Amino acid sequence: MKRGVGAMDGATQRYVFAFHEGDKDHRDLLGGKGANLAEMTNLGLPVPPGFTISTDACRRFLADGQEPPELHAQISGHLARLEAERGKRLGAAVDPLLVSVRSGAKFSMPGMMETILDIGLGDESVDGLAAASGSERFAWDSYRRLIQMFGSTVLGIDAARFNDALEAAEREHGATGDLDLDADALRGVVADYKAIVRDATGRDFPQDPREQLDMAVRAVFASWNTERARIYRRQERIPHDLGTAVTVMAMVYGNLGPHSGTGVAFTRDPATGAPGVYGDYLSEAQGEDVVAGIRTPVPLQELERLQPAAFTELMRIMALLEGHYRDLCDVEFTIERGKLWMLQTRVGKRTAAAAFRMAVQFLDDGLIDVKEALGRVTGEQLAQLMFPQFDPAFEAKPIATGVPASPGAAVGVAVFDSESAARSDLKSILVRRETSPDDLPGIIAAEGVLTSRGGKTSHAAVVARGMGKTCVVGADALEIDLEHRHFTTADGVIVREGDTISIDGTTGRVYSGMIDVVPSPVVEFFEGRLSDDERQRDPVVQAVSRLMIAADEHRRLGVHANADTPADAKRARRFGADGIGLCRTEHMFLGERRRRVEELILAESEAEQDKVLAELLPMQLGDFVGVLAAMDGLPVTIRLIDPPLHEFLPDLTELSVKVALAEARGEVDEGDARLLKAVRRLHEQNPMLGLRGVRLGLVVPGLVAMQVRAIAEAAAARIRAGGDPRPEIMVPLIGGAEEFELMREEIRRVLDDVANTSGLSIRAAIGTMIELPRAALTAGRIAGHAEFFSFGTNDLTQTTWGFSRDDVEGSFFPAYLEQGIFTVSPFESLDEEGVGRLVSIAVEEGRAARRDLVIGVCGEHGGDPSSVRFFDRVGLDYVSCSPFRVPVARLEAGRAAVLQKSDETDTR
Ligand code: PEP
Ligand code: MG
Repeated sequence: MKRGVGAMDGATQRYVFAFHEGDKDHRDLLGGKGANLAEMTNLGLPVPPGFTISTDACRRFLADGQEPPELHAQISGHLARLEAERGKRLGAAVDPLLVSVRSGAKFSMPGMMETILDIGLGDESVDGLAAASGSERFAWDSYRRLIQMFGSTVLGIDAARFNDALEAAEREHGATGDLDLDADALRGVVADYKAIVRDATGRDFPQDPREQLDMAVRAVFASWNTERARIYRRQERIPHDLGTAVTVMAMVYGNLGPHSGTGVAFTRDPATGAPGVYGDYLSEAQGEDVVAGIRTPVPLQELERLQPAAFTELMRIMALLEGHYRDLCDVEFTIERGKLWMLQTRVGKRTAAAAFRMAVQFLDDGLIDVKEALGRVTGEQLAQLMFPQFDPAFEAKPIATGVPASPGAAVGVAVFDSESAARSDLKSILVRRETSPDDLPGIIAAEGVLTSRGGKTSHAAVVARGMGKTCVVGADALEIDLEHRHFTTADGVIVREGDTISIDGTTGRVYSGMIDVVPSPVVEFFEGRLSDDERQRDPVVQAVSRLMIAADEHRRLGVHANADTPADAKRARRFGADGIGLCRTEHMFLGERRRRVEELILAESEAEQDKVLAELLPMQLGDFVGVLAAMDGLPVTIRLIDPPLHEFLPDLTELSVKVALAEARGEVDEGDARLLKAVRRLHEQNPMLGLRGVRLGLVVPGLVAMQVRAIAEAAAARIRAGGDPRPEIMVPLIGGAEEFELMREEIRRVLDDVANTSGLSIRAAIGTMIELPRAALTAGRIAGHAEFFSFGTNDLTQTTWGFSRDDVEGSFFPAYLEQGIFTVSPFESLDEEGVGRLVSIAVEEGRAARRDLVIGVCGEHGGDPSSVRFFDRVGLDYVSCSPFRVPVARLEAGRAAVLQKSDETDTR
């Protein structure tokens, strides 16, 4: 701590700190506002004097339902000092001191909590203020502001009642706004306001200034837990237990005549990152008027004409602040009769585009180094820049809102099944209750996917994200009527097949009709589709390009891709992947080939089975040759078949109905009847934990051998073609070393066989996924046999929490998020405390057993920015994620290498 603001003073806990105590690094204790006011005070800037009540006090208040007993006396001490410094007493009858009471949490939550200005005014001090300022109008205007703000925020009176009374007064006096009301009129407004307070609360507006102050402080503490504050924190992933600090500051007055006013300003444009100051100014107003939009402010440049001296001073201070913080700052200021006062500053929030541009500007200006530049941008921001977006200028009302599962903007005609999407000549949005692997062609063909069920890791969500396709899931207000091919919204709007809809995967909103979409130049850049000239002309693309180079130079983690097709593998390579970390083989059994899997299941003899496998072999071979060619020279981790067989079979209910109807007609199809028996036999209640993964490989003979043979022969074919294939074979859903050992023997046998017959040296590392708690807890033994581990954190999350992946997100996750059990779905961002612990144990015990064990992760978390940082910390070798997220993971891996956790700034 630079200036030593210890929370303990001897044996007493300190809750109150003067502005000259502390500095910008004390955001935990003083909140962002308090810490930055301290910093500005220490820089000698014109900050009105005051003090900050710490977040500790707020946390005590929230825990105990009352402020800590020591607080009252500590506030008295600081208030006395403030009064001495100003030579005025709070709320005195002659020349009173007034104060503002404002919230300020560690992470800024703009407009979410309370602020009360002009504390200290009452029936007597209002005359004192009038005399001291020489303006009766100003004094009564301040008094009516206090009652209005105090009434609505501290006493909880509907703000509309005050607004109505003010408007009534304006009408009565023929005024066009509050500025036209004179002192007498404002006196009348104060009387009306006081009557409202009495009527609503049964008591008079408190006249004791200290009582006003204490009530205001309490109200700010309590505002930490208002509904809107909680919602905001959930959205921004701000922990609910931080609490807010409260700053108490001597009032300076922007409403003291035409040479007074108030404004907000940014040292650069926070929307685009373009250099040059930017802001708004409002004459004859107090701070809240700007935010509340009561009157329209003028652009900051106007201030140069209105108040040249104050403008020059403001420009000087803003340049100083930007140089000092070495970042975009925003400020709130007030001008009182020509004198500039700084009320607040902070490192300002910015859009994703501005974040990238400014990081590079500051780097070029020599104010920060490349590590710090990397710290100024996030993977989430890069992801935002990579999705096509709706034209920000549009205004439309959504017809439904679901879970935003894969960002971006998509427009198309609604289609209700996969074939229609695949057949459609028009761009389409696939609308389903939920999707299954069967819908894959439809998802590929459609512009976007909309489902009424499921959460962020439902099938639709995972697949769409993997493809970088816009997706909204769980829009449960939509009634989808497949039979009549339409859906109905909660408001009764009917959207039929062929009607155009637009879906926003960043917000989860669904619109009727077409909304214009603009493509992402950043993706065009990664795809290599921008000319040099286009690249030069786009400052955001330039900035992204530079910071990606920096991230690659610094990162320790490898970044692989989850890719199953040559097309995906090629894209992954263009996007900078160092290999394939997960090639799922199940999609290779869908479509036309599904019939053969059915035949395999129905085969009654080994010979019949072998015949089907022999047919499948060349197809698999072709798949693997394509993927190995696309990733030539880089590792390709191929996972043996994982899902349960029933996923390749028809739906039990549908087939039962078909056979029953045929029976009734006396026309039963022999094949259908046999199939139905198999479907019944293989049907599972919870398909996620039955006959799948390694279990399938061990009990369905021939399947794994066929897959391994296809891999080995594909490698041989690539070697003969002069390529450099690097296949690795990965076994899914291992629970213990014995399962893996048996599997490995079988894999080895086939690999050796192909090597012998081909005369080529075919090398393929054999490893396992770690996706069951038992595997993590016995990782030492498993590593005795396995050459690599890859954490399947999707299954590991499901089995650690006992959450069924496809069921929970739509059903009770919203309630869990609401109740703060977690701030983000553990399927989206790794649960470090639980699942992460298993990961750490497995890493430690796996490496203890085998020093050169290669360890990666291929669950969805491999592309999640905060999870990437965790995987870096626990020492994984690589993360693997969908091709589209590869740049995000590269950036985060670079950031993880250069950042300490505490380096993260609040610029969200
Ligand atoms: C996992 O479980 O994390 C994984 C990558 O496998 P899948 O999602 O295919 O079950
Ligand atoms: Mg899995």
